[in-house]
Amino acid sequence: MPMVKAFSYGSGSFEIANALQHTRVNYFAVAYADEGVELRKNGIITPIMVMNPELQSFEQMLQYNLEPEIFSFSLLEQFANYVSVNNKQVTFPIHIKLDTGMHRLGFEEKDITSLIEKLKQYSFLQVKSIFSHLAASDDATLDDFTHLQINLFDKLSAQIMQTLSYPTLRHICNSGGISRFPEAHFNMVRLGIGLYGVGVNNEEQKHLLNVSSLKTTISQIRKIEVGETVGYSRKGKITKPTTIAVVPIGYADGLNRKLSNGVGHLYIKNRPAPIVGNVCMDMCMIDITDINAQEGDEVIVFNSAETLQSLANILGTISYEILTSVSARVKRIYLQE
Ligand SMILES: *Cc1c(COP(=O)(O)O)cnc(C)c1O
Repeated sequence: MPMVKAFSYGSGSFEIANALQHTRVNYFAVAYADEGVELRKNGIITPIMVMNPELQSFEQMLQYNLEPEIFSFSLLEQFANYVSVNNKQVTFPIHIKLDTGMHRLGFEEKDITSLIEKLKQYSFLQVKSIFSHLAASDDATLDDFTHLQINLFDKLSAQIMQTLSYPTLRHICNSGGISRFPEAHFNMVRLGIGLYGVGVNNEEQKHLLNVSSLKTTISQIRKIEVGETVGYSRKGKITKPTTIAVVPIGYADGLNRKLSNGVGHLYIKNRPAPIVGNVCMDMCMIDITDINAQEGDEVIVFNSAETLQSLANILGTISYEILTSVSARVKRIYLQE
C-alpha cells in the first residue's frame, strides 16, 4: 500500500499513483477523500483507503468507491447509517484502525469487544483490513516500545479476525517498520517516505536512489557594491564586492523564508551559494561571488537525500516536511527510464 497522500509527499498527484498502478500495487492510501477523487478522475482503479473520512465526504466515498479508515464508534455508526441508506451494492469495504500506542486515531484494547459486536451488526460493512501505526519504527532506542505495539496489534487484530467469516488483511509497518521489522509485515505494508528515496538510516540510504530534485535557473546576475543592500527591508547588507544571482523561487514555492539572510543556501555546480537578504514570495537572491555562473545556469534546492536532510536540519524539521512543502505551482516534470 504505497502512501500517495499530500500530493504523493509533494512529488505529484495521479502521476505517481499511475506509475505505481502499472506495477500492480494492491492499495493506495490518501489522507482525504478529495485526494482519492482526484486519483479516480485520473483513471486510477486500484483500491484506495482514505485515512480521514469526513461526514461531508461520504457521498463522494461511495460514488468513487473510496474505502474509509474507521477509527471510532461514532465514525463507524455514521458511516454504517449512510451506507445502509445510500449504498446500492451489497457490501462496502472499510478498514479498521487500532491505536496501539501512537495515540492518534484508532480503537483501543478496551473497545475491541464492543467493536466486534458492532461489526457483526453492520455485516454489510466488509472489513478489508485491520491496521495500526507505529510511533517510532525508525528509532532503535525505542524498539522496546515498537515491539509492544506490534504484539498488541497482533493480539487485538487476531481477536477481530476470528469473528469475521471472511479473510482480511493486516498491516502495521510504515517505511521504518518495513526495513527494520521484517517479522511484522503481516500481509501488507504501507510504504511512504522510502518510496520517495529517503531511508530511515544511513545503512538503508545507501540502497536507495534519489527520486526527486527541486531545481530552478538563474534569472539575472548583478554586481553589488559595498554599502548597498539586497532585497526587502534592506536585510542583505553587502560588506565586500558581491556578485548575486536572482533566482525565481520564493516562499510561495516552498522555499522557507526562515532560510533568509545566509541561514540557507542553494547549490550551483555543486557549490553552496548562501541566500542574501530575505527570501521573497517568488524569488530569492544568492551570493555567487566565488562561483563562475551564467544567467540560465541550473540552481539546485535539493537533489539528494543528503541535500534534503541538510535543509531539514537547518530548518529544525524532517525531510517529510521539506518534500511536502513544495507548493502546487512548482511544475513537476516526470522522467521515465
Ligand atoms: C504517512 C503514513 C504512513 C507512511 O509513513 P512513512 O514513514 O512515510 O513510511 C504509514 N501509515 C500511516 C497511517 C500514515 O499516516
